[in-house]
Amino acid sequence: MIADASSMDRSAFEREFDVCVVGSGPAGITLARRLAAKGARVALMEAGGLEYSDESQDAYRGTNIGMEYFDLDVCRLRYFGGTSNHWGGWTRALEAVDFLPKSYAPLTGWPIGQIDLDPYRTEADAILDVPSATEAPDLPVRQKGYDFHRFQFRFSPPTRFAEKYLGEIEASEAITLVVNANLVDLRLDEGLGRVAGAVFRGYAPADPGFTIRARAYALCCGGIENARLLLNFTSQVPEGVGNRGGWVGRCFADHPHFLIAECVLRVLVREREFYAPTELFMTEHACLNFGLRLEPRWIWPYELPALAREDMPPEEFNILLERLVRDPFVDRALTDRLVLPQPTGQTGVLRIAQEALPNPESRVRLGEERDAFGLRRVAMDWRLSEIDVHTMRTAAMAFGAHMADTEIGRAQVGDWLLADPPRFPGVLDDEVGGKHHMGTTRMAADPGKGVVDADCRVHEVENLYIGGSSVFASTGHCNPTYTLTQLALRLGDHLAARLAG
Ligand SMILES: Cc1cc2nc3c(=O)[nH]c(=O)nc-3n(C[C@H](O)[C@H](O)[C@H](O)COP(=O)(O)OP(=O)(O)OC[C@H]3O[C@@H](n4cnc5c(N)ncnc54)[C@H](O)[C@@H]3O)c2cc1C
Repeated sequence: MIADASSMDRSAFEREFDVCVVGSGPAGITLARRLAAKGARVALMEAGGLEYSDESQDAYRGTNIGMEYFDLDVCRLRYFGGTSNHWGGWTRALEAVDFLPKSYAPLTGWPIGQIDLDPYRTEADAILDVPSATEAPDLPVRQKGYDFHRFQFRFSPPTRFAEKYLGEIEASEAITLVVNANLVDLRLDEGLGRVAGAVFRGYAPADPGFTIRARAYALCCGGIENARLLLNFTSQVPEGVGNRGGWVGRCFADHPHFLIAECVLRVLVREREFYAPTELFMTEHACLNFGLRLEPRWIWPYELPALAREDMPPEEFNILLERLVRDPFVDRALTDRLVLPQPTGQTGVLRIAQEALPNPESRVRLGEERDAFGLRRVAMDWRLSEIDVHTMRTAAMAFGAHMADTEIGRAQVGDWLLADPPRFPGVLDDEVGGKHHMGTTRMAADPGKGVVDADCRVHEVENLYIGGSSVFASTGHCNPTYTLTQLALRLGDHLAARLAG
């Protein structure tokens, strides 16, 4: 069923649920559905409405005080379905090596392995509507040594969780979806070791708020907001909930995304080619994991008018456009844009999307400004580490050498990357990041090194769990939504078993 917290009649919520799931993005919806399928009664609490509103989105405003990053109210969405309302659908599971510690990279490694998430592949595929992994195997690479493997992404349509699951949730007797319900506090019991109730408010300024009681609580508000909320909940614990060890908000990471080399190609590259380092390469070069994208220079739709002859009448331009659309060079992987490689295929670019070191100084902090609910806004202090830069340079140089060795072409590494320190392009000049918000409530077996344990439970709060990529202990180079969907399914199974016990 669906309820609306804007209505002051809150009798529908005055009962105990099994689990209160806060946030209805991919993590929250996946978790709620999994729990419902196992017979649990779930309150699925969503701050926004069923559609976008400025009123809700405003709570995501913040400032960037570290490396240049995206506006914080632009790189995520605050309504039913969450950021899946505009994600791009690039899908790939973290690799086995991403779960293992790297001796030369402090804090890397998870307390779980790929093997713990593998059982959830089939269901994650179905949820995200991606073809089976067998349809995207690694492709052969002609190379001198054993440096790279050539991998493929799988593409989700992309699945919009709101569209796909609204009907099911509306009809569900197990799930009560409450929209316009903003989590503003978590109240702990006397011993401060359990959540006793989650406090929500609607948007009316005089709203006294209401409390949801459940046997367990799961925060699924996105990789920045999970940390921001916990840090704000200081009514009983001055450091914020779950933050005794001081880790909440630390190790914020996005996958750095940059154009690292311009290329002249001897072979025709029609589609993007993806390369990643072998484990041997990473160990030999003491670098992190990365994904390289060798692609032709695309012509973007906004460039087309400039390419048309000045005197070309609109109808001729439309004929040209239609012909281009039918051109086999069109990159079908991008569903919402028309992008064409230059017909000659002779120039290309090398882009990187790479792993980032868990860096405790790269963090979600709280600024002094407050939102409409009195919660302090985010002051984002994003930082890259030396090993991140080393990885980027090593990848560019080694792949450039590989291109020359194998006669693919020549790569000219960007001056900005070779400068010391590197002069990173800003968000107006390059991709910069994937808008993948990770690491701020990191998973660690040792409470002294992270926020949640291997079951995604907050170490110091017996019945509080976290869903989403904020629990990522190491980031790998792959886009996060597939892995966080697997994690949400696994969390659902864990919680259902625990509640039954
Ligand atoms: C432009 C763009 C493109 C992307 N492309 C890709 C891609 O191709 N591949 C990929 O893997 N990932 C991609 N991502 C990242 C992807 O969108 C996220 O990984 C994913 O949405 C995270 O899911 P989530 O459920 O953890 O968080 P979200 O989807 O952000 O959902 C969080 C939910 O919590 C709610 N919420 C927040 N605060 C509160 C509160 N106080 N009370 C109650 N509810 C609250 C929000 O309204 C929202 O519904 C992209 C992101 C962007 C911005």
